[in-house]
Amino acid sequence: NNSKVKGKTFVIGTDVTFPPFEFANKNNKYVGIDMDLIRAIANEQGFKVKIKALGFNAAVQAVESGQADGVIAGMSITNERKAQFDFSKPYFNSGVVMAVAKNSKIHKLSELKGKRVAVKTGTSGADYANSIKKKYGFKVVTFDDSNNMYQDVSTGNSVACFEDHPVMQYAIKQGTKLKIVTKPALNAPYGFAVKKGHNQALLQAFNQGLADLKASGTYDSIKAKYLGADE
Ligand code: GLN
Repeated sequence: NNSKVKGKTFVIGTDVTFPPFEFANKNNKYVGIDMDLIRAIANEQGFKVKIKALGFNAAVQAVESGQADGVIAGMSITNERKAQFDFSKPYFNSGVVMAVAKNSKIHKLSELKGKRVAVKTGTSGADYANSIKKKYGFKVVTFDDSNNMYQDVSTGNSVACFEDHPVMQYAIKQGTKLKIVTKPALNAPYGFAVKKGHNQALLQAFNQGLADLKASGTYDSIKAKYLGADE
């Protein structure tokens, strides 16, 4: 029953650039798996969305402070975050990988000793790097978006970055001059999130819409549109 969301407009925060989940296309419209998914669910459940590409950390904070109703930004469902957020059913599996410049000889964590590593503020990649930096003796520098983080590595300022596997894979396919050198760590699926205890009707409508789109095959065609048929 979606009567509580029908006709309403919800403000949804997202990342600035996190392809294939959210990115601005040539016409400056936000597209990607998350964007198509939230719009298709809104359409099916009879509500409207106002997308705000704030950056990952800012989008998460906007939901916490009540300035946004929900966040969809390739956000990993973690126990830690469940203290502040209610998550939807998972919709995509992910994990954190280490990437280095294409011509780099570094291929494992133990080779990061004394080096500089780039991460994106507030992400699981940043959490992962911070949790192991003492052990492996590297220094962490933070960026607000993935593009600037990749650039810090491709230009050689940092020797590595930690990024979500599907996103790093996609960027490399699109020509980013990095390579993935580790297996995914901190494996966790993505979910849509609202502030804990708030916007429960929106969360339920998301889950119902997701289930319907999965059943109708629309969810698979959204994924296939960005990733090809076999993922
Ligand atoms: N999945 C990661 C997280 O939830 C990164 C999300 C992102 O960078 N948009 O922290």
